[in-house]
Amino acid sequence: MIFTHRQLIANRVFDADVCIIGSGAGGSAAAYALAQAGRRVIVVERGSFLTPKDFDQREENMFPKLFYDAGGRTTRNRAIRVLHGHGVGGSTLHNINLCKRIPDPVFASWELPRFNVSGLRPHYEKVEKLLGVSRIPAERMNENNRLFKAGVEKLGYRGDFLFHNRKDCVGSGFCELGCAFDAKMNALRVLIPQAVQHGAMVLADTRALRLERDGRRIVRVIAQTLHPESGAALSTHVISAKTFICAGGAVETPLLLQRSDVPDPESLVGSRLHLHPGVAVLGEFEQPVRSWQGIPQSYECTEFISFEPAPNAAAEKRIWMIAGSAHPAGAASMLPGFGAEHAGWMEKLPRMACISAMVHDSTRGIVRRKGEFGADLNYVLNSADRAQLATGLREAARILLAAGAREAILPFVEPLRIQTAAQLDRLPIEVRDLDIDMVAVHPMSTVWVGRSEKDSCLDESCRYWQLDNLLVADMSVYPSSLGVPPQLSAYAIGFYAAATAR
Ligand SMILES: Cc1cc2nc3c(=O)[nH]c(=O)nc-3n(C[C@H](O)[C@H](O)[C@H](O)COP(=O)(O)OP(=O)(O)OC[C@H]3O[C@@H](n4cnc5c(N)ncnc54)[C@H](O)[C@@H]3O)c2cc1C
Ligand code: SF4
Repeated sequence: MIFTHRQLIANRVFDADVCIIGSGAGGSAAAYALAQAGRRVIVVERGSFLTPKDFDQREENMFPKLFYDAGGRTTRNRAIRVLHGHGVGGSTLHNINLCKRIPDPVFASWELPRFNVSGLRPHYEKVEKLLGVSRIPAERMNENNRLFKAGVEKLGYRGDFLFHNRKDCVGSGFCELGCAFDAKMNALRVLIPQAVQHGAMVLADTRALRLERDGRRIVRVIAQTLHPESGAALSTHVISAKTFICAGGAVETPLLLQRSDVPDPESLVGSRLHLHPGVAVLGEFEQPVRSWQGIPQSYECTEFISFEPAPNAAAEKRIWMIAGSAHPAGAASMLPGFGAEHAGWMEKLPRMACISAMVHDSTRGIVRRKGEFGADLNYVLNSADRAQLATGLREAARILLAAGAREAILPFVEPLRIQTAAQLDRLPIEVRDLDIDMVAVHPMSTVWVGRSEKDSCLDESCRYWQLDNLLVADMSVYPSSLGVPPQLSAYAIGFYAAATAR
């Protein structure tokens, strides 16, 4: 059963075998596995229970409903916008459905005996089957992706079609605002309903305020139901359980642990934040592109990403490129200029293609509480990552020009407009904070698995070192940047942690 603020008007006391905080990729998979195994499961979810009819395809309505801080969360220095979601289904409601496993060399770099390729493999297989993961067919490519692919092929770069978890997709292009056609095979459509069918209870519009403990055990969660629009507290609940699983995502899970004052002798919780920040490049074409129509991302360029260890920093390849698209407000916020100049850019939007370049980041940031429930994301890109992003900008522009763009535009505050590859090669490109829009949609690694409690937060079963019945099952657990879209790994970790909780 899914309860919302409408039913949760009075204070309640709940008791369960397992209490899971967060219903996104990790939380929904854990809930599904544990409910199916006969455990009494309660899921606490800060966001609302939205269904396809609620996804009205309007940015001004959907951003507040789907994203933390209505999509306005940024790093402390405001240089990078950090998007992550809430709602029954978490960030899987608004994500773009790309599916990739963690590359073997990334697993190998962690040197962990159980938390490795073979340890995770059965869980990936299960998720891929449940979500119907398949390769995106060539005929589903929109014009933006077609031009991207044409440019990649013309330059002889490495590229391929991506995999996704969609079924009966009509290609509306609105994935980022939630799917009105129920074509996403995600937590909301697949895992939560099956968990509920097996008896799981979901408390939507309800935030876990803190975990309370007795010695080495968490004994209860205190949670508050909030009005989804006003944010007013409506009721407070006490949830007791034998096992607790934090699955609030890599920003909110460390904040909950910090609010709860869990023992953290080495001050590690929150301190290894990776984000995969990205930049975008535009290309103006003669013909209409309408990048917002159709499946937004169906093709990738992997020429500038390698997961094998590089002999030195100069040889590193850490840039992953995909097509980009934005709805009107998003596009307007990214395009340069003011007044008439900005309006001129917006008029060109239907003929603009966009490529985004994301860095497999070596920068580490720190997540700390800001006030009671805010997030302070102290993350300042290191010079190696800035150099990678500069390569991303240059190469994305080169691909657009190769595809026939009359001009490639690097959207700095003073935009760089480039007509030829020769011009591009002569151009110094530097990535400075607040000089170009940067967006990150993959926070991770803030409460990570390791071999020892001296330098990690969780053992290889995803159990918190200092507490016997607390597990983490979300994107926090991975010890480094993954360099690939993470949702499949978040779902897989839900199944992996559930195996421990059972
Ligand atoms: C715009 C966008 C596009 C993306 N596209 C892709 C893609 O194509 N492919 C891909 O692999 N990944 C993509 N991602 C990333 C992917 O969706 C996430 O990495 C993944 O969903 C993370 O899973 P999670 O379980 O860690 O957290 P989430 O899915 O974010 O779920 C966490 C949930 O916990 C809830 N929660 C947190 N704290 C509390 C609390 N205290 N009390 C109650 N509830 C709480 C949150 O409200 C949220 O619902 C995208 C992300 C964004 C923002
Ligand atoms: S493109 Fe497909 S999955 Fe995305 S919102 Fe439209 S119908 Fe849904």
